[in-house]
Amino acid sequence: TKGAAMVTAVASRLQAQRKQIDKVLALFRLTQEQLVGIRNKMRVEFEYGLKKDTHPLATVKMLPTYVCGMPDGTEKGKFLALDLGGTNFRVLLVKIRSGRRSVRMYNKIFAIPLEIMQGTGEELFDHIVQCIADFLDYMGLKGAQLPLGFTFSFPCRQASIDKGTLIEWTKGFKATDCEGEDVVDMLREAIKRRNEFDLDIVAVVNDTVGTMMTCGYEDSNCEVGLIAGTGSNMCYMEEMRNIELVEGDEGKMCINTEWGGFGDNGCLDDIHTQYDKEVDEGSLNPGKQRYEKMTSGMYLGEIVRQILIDLTKQGLLFRGQISERLRTRGIFETKFLSQIESDRLALLQVRRILQQLGLDSTCEDSIVVKEVCGAVSRRAAQLYGAGLAAIVEKRREDQGLEHMRITVGVDGTLYKLHPHFSRILRETVKELAPQCDVMFMLSEDGSGKGAALITAVAKRLQQAQRD
Ligand code: BGC
Ligand code: MG
Repeated sequence: TKGAAMVTAVASRLQAQRKQIDKVLALFRLTQEQLVGIRNKMRVEFEYGLKKDTHPLATVKMLPTYVCGMPDGTEKGKFLALDLGGTNFRVLLVKIRSGRRSVRMYNKIFAIPLEIMQGTGEELFDHIVQCIADFLDYMGLKGAQLPLGFTFSFPCRQASIDKGTLIEWTKGFKATDCEGEDVVDMLREAIKRRNEFDLDIVAVVNDTVGTMMTCGYEDSNCEVGLIAGTGSNMCYMEEMRNIELVEGDEGKMCINTEWGGFGDNGCLDDIHTQYDKEVDEGSLNPGKQRYEKMTSGMYLGEIVRQILIDLTKQGLLFRGQISERLRTRGIFETKFLSQIESDRLALLQVRRILQQLGLDSTCEDSIVVKEVCGAVSRRAAQLYGAGLAAIVEKRREDQGLEHMRITVGVDGTLYKLHPHFSRILRETVKELAPQCDVMFMLSEDGSGKGAALITAVAKRLQQAQRD
């Protein structure tokens, strides 16, 4: 009959549509074999970055941080810390009490307007100093001369703990006249320009390093710091003898891997999809930070958006209508991905979230959107896992251990907010580094507190040198 024929036609159309959607989702599925390959490639890049000959061209830069020791519990005092480069800019006052390993913190979040992130370097640093002034005022600390630790979450070449030359901006920053400059000098000059207070800038640290330090304060087995947030990065304690860029063979130093640049030499091209390319091309730094763009909060939502646009073009979503909203960059923040993927959420609620984003969806649409989010975030977590497996396996082999226990300090909105990311990451590490027992330790406010701890250690060492 005519009715039956229509039902068959609809069914086969749905089947064909399903096939098209599956084809897109399949691009994001990584096999065990691919993940092993990625782990191995990451390992090769680590070695390139550490070796003098290959370092200049290495895409994983393996930057020495001049952080050589963990806090020993004798640190004490009041410190200021700045945390720039994550989701929020913060100024903190950190009070460390010796002996009991207790830390008290007060902090204030400040906005950094887009025109300042992408204006001139002077404007950016003047703004930062303005925020410090507001904070000191607020805390009743005007005129206090405190030691300051600066968490600056961008790749910096360091020659000591209090010097850091910005190699290049990443994420959403693009202020002019900063690349190739020492950010500590820039901060000092901005403080001088304001001519209102004096601060003793003791250390500049990456957020991964701050996170590792914070967790290391409580667990001495913590020798890796991981950020899965707006950006993606990892640091770890390396044997001095393996760090060819720094004299000396004794002891260890923390290496900021800057693994976000993994893949910039094309070694991930086989898993790079057309959607990744589109995200890359629309970013502030095309061609750079490929791994970061496949794994971190600033970009996952963008990958999702590119897929949704394509599915809509193919007539598989939103009745084939690409709305103005869907064309808008940055609409899918980590927060939304996390909500959409929450298993406790009924589809109706997913539709409501999409509604909030200005996307009119049917029930079928909301199922597809959820699947797309799942595929993108799963791949991100697996890629993180492969990278992390590479470092713990390296550490295990370097120490000649059959089996190794290690703690990873973690921070970042993606790790903390996403309902599945951390589990998939842990599972992947377990599969790809079976001889390592990896413990994950969430750091509360890691980067700011860590900067203060590193500053405290540096102060203690300065003092010891003087005595
Ligand atoms: C930066 C790293 C930073 C990471 C996490 C990346 O874009 O290059 O220095 O650690 O983001 O904030
Ligand atoms: Mg941060």
